[in-house]
Amino acid sequence: MLRNIDFQKLNKNPTPFYFYDLDLLRATIKELKSEAQKYQFKVHYALKANTDDRVLDIVSNEGLGADCVSGNEVKKALEHNFRAGDVFYAGVGKTDTEILTGIKAGIGCFNCESLQEITVINEIATKINKTARIALRINPHVDSKSHSYITTGIEENKFGIQLWELDEVLSVVRTLKNIKLTGLHFHIGSQITNMDIFKELCIKVNKINERVAGEGFELSLLNLGGGFGIDYEDPAENPVPDFKSFFGTFNKYLKVRTGQNVYFELGRSVVAQMGTLIAKVLYIKKGRSKNFAVVDAGMTELIRPALYNSVHKIENLSINGQEENPSEIYSTYDIVGPVCETTDFLGKGVSLPVTYRGDLLAVYSVGAYGQSMASNYNLREKAGVVYSDDL
Ligand SMILES: *Cc1c(COP(=O)(O)O)cnc(C)c1O
Repeated sequence: MLRNIDFQKLNKNPTPFYFYDLDLLRATIKELKSEAQKYQFKVHYALKANTDDRVLDIVSNEGLGADCVSGNEVKKALEHNFRAGDVFYAGVGKTDTEILTGIKAGIGCFNCESLQEITVINEIATKINKTARIALRINPHVDSKSHSYITTGIEENKFGIQLWELDEVLSVVRTLKNIKLTGLHFHIGSQITNMDIFKELCIKVNKINERVAGEGFELSLLNLGGGFGIDYEDPAENPVPDFKSFFGTFNKYLKVRTGQNVYFELGRSVVAQMGTLIAKVLYIKKGRSKNFAVVDAGMTELIRPALYNSVHKIENLSINGQEENPSEIYSTYDIVGPVCETTDFLGKGVSLPVTYRGDLLAVYSVGAYGQSMASNYNLREKAGVVYSDDL
């Protein structure tokens, strides 16, 4: 499937590696910007999805802001020329050092997840005689209905300030001199493709926005978070997510008060489809009930299947790419890695043309939460990246 890519050029690189289609990344951002601009929505990129240097340079050159969830991500965003004012910082566990880094850098906003965090930010800002801009990350109790490990907006999750604590939080915020409450922040989960869930979010946000305004706070920022999903089943059919529906839904249901700017923080939908993990088949193990294709990549390069049971489309490029003798006979494989864990698989029950040692497999849609979640467990080497621009 890998469009316009010469198999022989790919095959020259040592496996495993991530292949990043930077043209697709640029096309995705172009579409994203044109749909967001229709409604003057501002879009930030959630760095944690992919912090590859060349990816970040493209994103920052396109003028998106940055959404960070650690002090090092804040630093990385600044190194890649995201404007400090366009850097937002969320996360339930910001350390004092990370908070200090953010305040000194003059970042646009701390998205605060607890009352205690707000008081700590105020203390640190007071010490260095600065004012920190904050937004309240509110847990709106909207179920994203994606995998329970990537749901963040229901009461049992660790994220955000609960609605029942909001009055107390607002009354404390009034007394703190070195913070400025500028907005409200929501992020309910990830890989959400059902627009009804975002509609439900809008309805909750509208109520909360009115309630906070009713308490006398003039807020300039409404941040609706990220979470927009992509098509893992058929990446070739839908390489660019349907940003028109996504932003259109918010435009339709969100009631923005005068003077408020609307922000989004998208990660997966920006970068997922541009990335493909290329792995080589080491061994075929024939079983009585199924076959294993043991490849040279695994949970160390792509942990999503092990962590969330997520499904990525997998193809055998050697057969599709060479087209000398395309096999008509298919067999079913569990595609597993070399790591000593039972959960070390890339795909289960995958139907492929009969596959041999030495074949190259493509695991699609790994641009988000692939490389950025990689580890060197089992002392494995870090996989490299091959960029379409260099081929
Ligand atoms: C992870 C995260 C995002 C991005 O989520 P995607 O599903 O990748 O769009 C946005 N905001 C916050 C606070 C996050 O933690």
